[in-house]
Amino acid sequence: MKRCGWLVMAMVGGCAVALAPEAPAGLKAQARPIVLHAARLLDVSAGKIVSPGEVLVEDERIVAAGTSVEHPAGAEVIDLGDSTLMPGLIDAHVHLFLHPGAEDLQTVVESVPQRTILATLAAEADLMAGFTAERDMGTEGAGSADTAVMLAIDEGLIPGPRLRISGNAVDILGGHEDAIHFNPAQHVLSNADYANNADEIVAVIREQHKQGSTFVKMYETGPDSMVNGEFHTQYQYTEAELKAGVDEAARLGMNVGVHAQGEPGTLYAAEAGVASIDHATQLSDETMRLMKEKHIPAVPTFTIFEYFAEHSAGAAAEREHAMLDYKIREFKRQVAAGVPMAVGSDVGPFPHGTQAKEFELMVKYGMTPLAVLQADYLNGARILRWAGEIGELKAGYYADVVGVPGNPLEDITVVERVVFVMKGGVVVTK
Ligand SMILES: [Zn+2]
Repeated sequence: MKRCGWLVMAMVGGCAVALAPEAPAGLKAQARPIVLHAARLLDVSAGKIVSPGEVLVEDERIVAAGTSVEHPAGAEVIDLGDSTLMPGLIDAHVHLFLHPGAEDLQTVVESVPQRTILATLAAEADLMAGFTAERDMGTEGAGSADTAVMLAIDEGLIPGPRLRISGNAVDILGGHEDAIHFNPAQHVLSNADYANNADEIVAVIREQHKQGSTFVKMYETGPDSMVNGEFHTQYQYTEAELKAGVDEAARLGMNVGVHAQGEPGTLYAAEAGVASIDHATQLSDETMRLMKEKHIPAVPTFTIFEYFAEHSAGAAAEREHAMLDYKIREFKRQVAAGVPMAVGSDVGPFPHGTQAKEFELMVKYGMTPLAVLQADYLNGARILRWAGEIGELKAGYYADVVGVPGNPLEDITVVERVVFVMKGGVVVTK
């Protein structure tokens, strides 16, 4: 008898056929072309709506897009009526491995397998809400379990956005994500991987990359406090340490996104040349100047701040509201200064699939709908390292397309009511 390898094998005439799971029919791009037709189409780089709108899709890519496209013989035509065709939404800051209740002990109580199953459901909920690409900003203690989720999505086994993943985030001992204030004898684990100097940062990045990471998340600041209306936060890494991380990530073809709430950590991050500064509650004039010069977007994550302000009680609620008020004031200053922005919601602590609220809040606090959409699509694609492949409806791009009711340039809230979702040429809307 022939011996089979260690991979799972089927005994078909011996042992030659690997039982590689097949993508379900509903998650595969179909062979015949698809023409999408709708009343309007968003031309992202031109910054305008054209009418009507059509997109020709073959396999997983866009062949043509505009007011009219060729209708090849045998093409399936999908008429979306009075809606607007737009590129799939990008969320530059998500946590697939968190669900509401993040302020409780879910990362301690729930096993990694349990959290991974929930992460697959989160990925599906985000996709159905129109998010076809996401950056998962740390599994919060689930290690490289996000690799399994990403691979299953990429192989078409489960529905979900195309993902950039970091595994755990990188953090200092006793830092932002460490399990402090527990009985030390219980040895409660950190939600991130420890790295306390440049050499350790490089080693952790290599280990995470070995396990499948496609970008690096570092915690640059924390804890945060509001004192007499002023925001304060500790930095965690020096500029040189962050730079060691940025360089190692670049060597591996990746980039670094940082949790950085305020000075001087935000300045160190900008100096080190990170890909994005997430939360970005407090940016000095010099930091803003560097972010403009180096084209480093801020990712404000308003939705999580608003959620915590609305879902806290007593002194915590007072603090969260003061933080949100401060953040809104600073955001207006950042917008006026021309700091580049990207759209990231920090979804996870609030329900997956509801995060398009972030677009509404960025408009509410000072940006135009078009500026928010361009920030999402163009800066989002760039920091996710898919520039030229997602974020626009153009020939050669992935066929990631959503339909929204109404005109998003007149009413940004239509992105919260997505009626049609296609990812990589596959219609995923049920
Ligand atoms: Zn986050």
